[in-house]
Amino acid sequence: MKYQYDGYNWLVRLDKGERLVESLNSLIKSEKITGAWLSGLGSCSHAEVGYYDLATKQYVFKELNKPMEILSLQGNVGISGDELSIHIHAMLADESLGVVGGHLKELTVSGTCEIFLHKWWGKPGISRQFDETTDLKLLDL
Ligand code: ZN
Repeated sequence: MKYQYDGYNWLVRLDKGERLVESLNSLIKSEKITGAWLSGLGSCSHAEVGYYDLATKQYVFKELNKPMEILSLQGNVGISGDELSIHIHAMLADESLGVVGGHLKELTVSGTCEIFLHKWWGKPGISRQFDETTDLKLLDL
């Protein structure tokens, strides 16, 4: 992982074999990022994506092991209590150009992955709070 910070944004490059969520967790800890919006693109050889089943209040994940383009990553970085949190959704396409996507658990970069993190300047950061209705940690606004 390589990155640059311009005072407002982080520009990040991940290389073949690096894991996206693991790498971003390392970045947000070392840079002490408590709030940022994330977008990105690239390619991957593995991804685990899913959806949240509100009836069972559980994520259901599927693992994909094939070459795919990362068409779009959207997400954010925040804090939940004392813990840093990261929330990313991914749109992926395989050789048929069919698109799949969902809540991203992890992916492994193949060619490259280019991430843009735009800093949120509000204090104390992008906070999340547990919501009993959904069983999710929602934005605390
Ligand atoms: Zn999600």
